[in-house]
Amino acid sequence: MTTDAQQAEPSFRDSVDIMFNRAVSLMELPEGLEEKIRVCNATYTVRFGVRLRGKIETFTGYRSVHSEHMEPVKGGIRFSMGVHQDEVEALAALMTYKCARVEVPYGGSKGGLRIDPNAWEPHELELITRRFAYELIKRDMINPAQNVPAPDMGTGEREMAWIADQYKRMNTTDINGNACVTGKPPNAGGIAGRVEATGRGVQYALQEFFRHADDVKTAGLSGSLDGKRIIVQGLGNVGYHAAKFLSEEDGAKITGIIERDGSLHNEDGIDVEAVRQWIIKNGGVTGFTGATHAENGAALLEAECDILIPAALEGVIDRNNAPNIKAPLIIEAANGPITAGGDEILRDKGTVIIPDMYANAGGVTVSYFEWVKNLSHIRFGRMQRRAEESRHQLIVDELERISKDSSINWTLSPNFKDRYLRGAGELELVRSGLDDTMRTAYQAMRAVWRSRDDVPDLRTAAYLVSIEKVAASYRAKGL
Ligand code: NAD
Repeated sequence: MTTDAQQAEPSFRDSVDIMFNRAVSLMELPEGLEEKIRVCNATYTVRFGVRLRGKIETFTGYRSVHSEHMEPVKGGIRFSMGVHQDEVEALAALMTYKCARVEVPYGGSKGGLRIDPNAWEPHELELITRRFAYELIKRDMINPAQNVPAPDMGTGEREMAWIADQYKRMNTTDINGNACVTGKPPNAGGIAGRVEATGRGVQYALQEFFRHADDVKTAGLSGSLDGKRIIVQGLGNVGYHAAKFLSEEDGAKITGIIERDGSLHNEDGIDVEAVRQWIIKNGGVTGFTGATHAENGAALLEAECDILIPAALEGVIDRNNAPNIKAPLIIEAANGPITAGGDEILRDKGTVIIPDMYANAGGVTVSYFEWVKNLSHIRFGRMQRRAEESRHQLIVDELERISKDSSINWTLSPNFKDRYLRGAGELELVRSGLDDTMRTAYQAMRAVWRSRDDVPDLRTAAYLVSIEKVAASYRAKGL
């Protein structure tokens, strides 16, 4: 039975527009520019057939371009049965604001294929992915200079490698062919640290949040991440990495995990790696020992915890369950996990929400590094690493000489020497660039939140900063 509250729930696309409108009502944009930024420029729908298991199977896919104020446009490709035009357009709009939010030079795009990836064998999925890619490539909807996809729900390194290979087969003389898609495996033009990037970005975002005592206090929390109880929904690429890093490196406790087939709960903390391995082997969380299993997974969203990380899909917190959410701090690792209706209720309750367009921007940030690497045809750190190590060695040698010659008896700890002498390789540089991006992007967003009485939350602040950047780019073009 549908309740009134469910009927009143806006769609994902409408939710993004409602949040956009709330922000632009606080801005002074030239007439018409607001509409130009809000609307989705184009959505291409493709239906194609692939001969599988003795018959032709027809698939429907989309690639939506929200804004071309900068090119190429960027955004993941999702494989899921839930894919539809409204969803792809909402996700493309979010990509525009997300890229502006973390200052990567792209417009926003998104793609999706309506498919259950688990229903097909790998060689069948390869045929389907290559055919979908072919349809997009021949229309320049995958192209290093125009439109660069990446992984999203249901896709990963494997699919990106197929897409890159398909592009290169169709564009044999394009020396920049590898830059047509990001999220590729390291041995196929990828970059170290891309798989973990979105989850790592969630970790860096939370670390930065906890550096601001005022913000922590607004959420009704105190101290650091150490000992904080976290519930995470979706132990896929994003949720797994975020939960793993936060528990292994920051001392946080993962007290709840929600998956498709139910939830796991243990106030003493759950071993994230063990659950991940269990899911890989058994296809779900059911049967995992070491935590209490419940069939109604979504109910755990409403449990007591310090931080809630929805990292699965959109629309999981809405008008219906928002009043029951107890977490004082929510970080949107997924795209659009809170509807506009749910957002309003949580805001009134004082829940602090770190919004998706910032929180999960680690993926597109490292994708940007990968694209730059592909275009420059050289691994980050390759020229500098040994030079950096030699200069460090000079200092260490000099310090040791001084210590030998001086009457004061002091030595460097071996640990210091090892750590200081090691030059930064690609992974260290990627993490450094990502950490810097997440810190500065948070600071820009919170500065607006803290300095303006008419900006009630981080989401509105995020939209304001992003829309201002997109508007400035249009203005520079004379629009
Ligand atoms: P994924 O397919 O790797 O993982 C999704 C996980 O959520 C899976 O473990 C799945 O079983 C689980 N799940 C699906 N439906 C669920 C439900 N109803 N309840 C509980 N769990 C459910 O996908 P991902 O790449 O981790 O993406 C997750 C979210 O993060 C999406 O919203 C995506 O758009 C967003 N995102 C991903 C990236 C990226 O780099 N992969 C970047 C930015 C944003």
